[in-house]
Amino acid sequence: MIPFNKPCAVGSEESAIRAAIENSKLSGNGPFTKKCTDWLEGRLQCKKALLTPSCTAALEMTAMLTETKDGDEVIMPSYTFVSTANAFVIRGGKIRFVDVTPDTMNIDPQQIEAAITDRTKSIVVVHYAGIACDMDAIMEIAHKYGLWVIEDAAQALLSTYKGKPLGTIGHFGTFSFHDTKNYTCGEGGALIINDPTALERAEIIQEKGTNRQQFKKGMVDKYTWRDIGSSFLLSELNAAYLHVQFQHANTINENRLQTWHHYKRELQPVENITIPHVPENCMHNAHMFYIKMKDVTERNQLMDYLNKHAIMTATHYVPLHSSHAGRKYGKFIGSDTNTTTESERLLRLPLYYGIGEEAVDYVVKTIHTYYQT
Ligand SMILES: *Cc1c(COP(=O)(O)O)cnc(C)c1O
Repeated sequence: MIPFNKPCAVGSEESAIRAAIENSKLSGNGPFTKKCTDWLEGRLQCKKALLTPSCTAALEMTAMLTETKDGDEVIMPSYTFVSTANAFVIRGGKIRFVDVTPDTMNIDPQQIEAAITDRTKSIVVVHYAGIACDMDAIMEIAHKYGLWVIEDAAQALLSTYKGKPLGTIGHFGTFSFHDTKNYTCGEGGALIINDPTALERAEIIQEKGTNRQQFKKGMVDKYTWRDIGSSFLLSELNAAYLHVQFQHANTINENRLQTWHHYKRELQPVENITIPHVPENCMHNAHMFYIKMKDVTERNQLMDYLNKHAIMTATHYVPLHSSHAGRKYGKFIGSDTNTTTESERLLRLPLYYGIGEEAVDYVVKTIHTYYQT
């Protein structure tokens, strides 16, 4: 059986966790957290990175940092994970879903402007499959209307847009280290702060609303309750595991890219399926390889066929605007030309660190057999 995903492990995670135990520091913001945030700040060339318990938590922090209040409107694609929306809904935000473009499944910048009202506060973009949104167009609209831009870069660590790392272009970027992502620690995330005015407040929100970080730096003589906040720190045990993955990031990235290009090379010639499009000037991190079939029926048939041949595949998001909570807390603006139909055609193939060429060969051969090519 070829699984759809296997959480990444390179081998030395266990000794790193043991080292964290020996440090006698298991709570957040210890030496392993520092190693991880230093790595992120160096690699992404960003001002500040904070480790969080999840990407969901990092998104919740951005909703607090942008002071999202009752009735504020937040624009995002409907084709995304629930957390993208939920983080703002729990602050009282109203979600304004817009369509995606069929080539990348990313938010269509042309639909954003029509969704803007005097209640609009933020635009949340999702770099689907680790492939960049059209950030120039999005940032231009945001500047024109004075809106915050949050990049849900959960899938996009080490991807770039015009040479700039994803997560560093908007005011905030969020990453996920869930075990389905390229770099993992089980559950974990990061918040990237690109707007320097938000920095001090972000550290307070992360530390339960206290100025504990200023206290630790010797800037105040006791720490007190300053603001709203929550517990948004990652345990050192998780940070130790994550640090090992960062140390091996190039190896992991190259291995995934190899698999991705293997799929691309072998599946591009199959007439009945569409493979992902990578726009010019975008470098991606091989987070996902998906194919699209004619329609939902054909997609489900191929999925069953692969399953019968011991290959696990996965569909993806059910558009949020069609869900129970999505209808309650949000509204689709403009016409749903692509979101529903394109999401129903999509199937994700097995892709994980160390999958091996044989397994990938078997997957492509099985697809070729299905289409009798
Ligand atoms: C994985 C993912 C999330 C959630 O990440 P967690 O770390 O599990 O909270 C949010 N948004 C997108 C686009 C994701 O792919």
